Amino acid sequence: SNRHERRFAAVTGAASGNGRAIAEKLVAEGATLAAIDLDTEALARVFGDRAEVLRIVADVADEESVKAAFAQIGAEFGRLDTLVNNAGIVKFGTFENLSLAEWDQVFAVNSTGPFLASREAYRLLRTGDGDHTRSIVNITSVEAHIVISSSGHPQIHYNASKGALLQLTRALAVETAASGIRVNAVAPGFIETPFTTAALSNQEVHDWLIERTPLGRIGRPEDVANAVAFLASDEASWITGTTLFVDGGWTIY
Ligand code: NAD
Repeated sequence: SNRHERRFAAVTGAASGNGRAIAEKLVAEGATLAAIDLDTEALARVFGDRAEVLRIVADVADEESVKAAFAQIGAEFGRLDTLVNNAGIVKFGTFENLSLAEWDQVFAVNSTGPFLASREAYRLLRTGDGDHTRSIVNITSVEAHIVISSSGHPQIHYNASKGALLQLTRALAVETAASGIRVNAVAPGFIETPFTTAALSNQEVHDWLIERTPLGRIGRPEDVANAVAFLASDEASWITGTTLFVDGGWTIY
């Protein structure tokens, strides 16, 4: 499929896991891509020799860094059709021992990062090509909707930060609709990425996840990427402010 031909896209956290799969998928469907990540070395390793990929080292939690990243995208591309806010971090820890520093760090990356990137991308999205729809896709989590406490890993700050991103998605969808920009979320369930390697290496957790998931397997980054590519395409031109769950049925079971 060539749904993203002649389009410019930016993906944050593009050097690993879900972000990498999203970046590969959009490029495979024809997009010219800005791959944004904190990790200089991983960016070079993953996208080093790709002409259709502009590598940008930036911290989504840092305002100046995000401004510089989108200024560079503006200079190189002139416009943007798709922004995918994927960069995120996960931390675990019980509520009573949670430090303010750790709470702030999780919110800075998972909630404030998408705000900053969306704000800086907005001007470029507005100057987009009138021939097709332009949109933002935020990677939230099933944990924005439910609390998976039985995994033995409390994480109220992660839950709260993804809940904030969910409502940011809806509020932004309303505010940007008049400019023809759609804003949606993809809520992954458990996906096999470097983010989850440690948890998956525990056989008990692994077996529990499979048993708990109606479709009976762990998710793949490609499952997330396929959903993002759809939401960012014209096939989704009447879809805004919504969440597409990519969780093998976890949240309905
Ligand atoms: P990952 O750790 O494999 O990749 C995250 C990437 O983001 C890394 O390349 C990292 O360098 C980059 N990054 C981290 N902080 C950044 C920052 N401040 N600025 C720029 N880049 C930064 O993780 P993943 O599993 O691919 O997760 C990607 C997204 O998917 C996250 O938002 C995560 O919350 C979400 N998610 C993952 C799962 C899962 O099971 N893996 C489930 C639900 C949601």
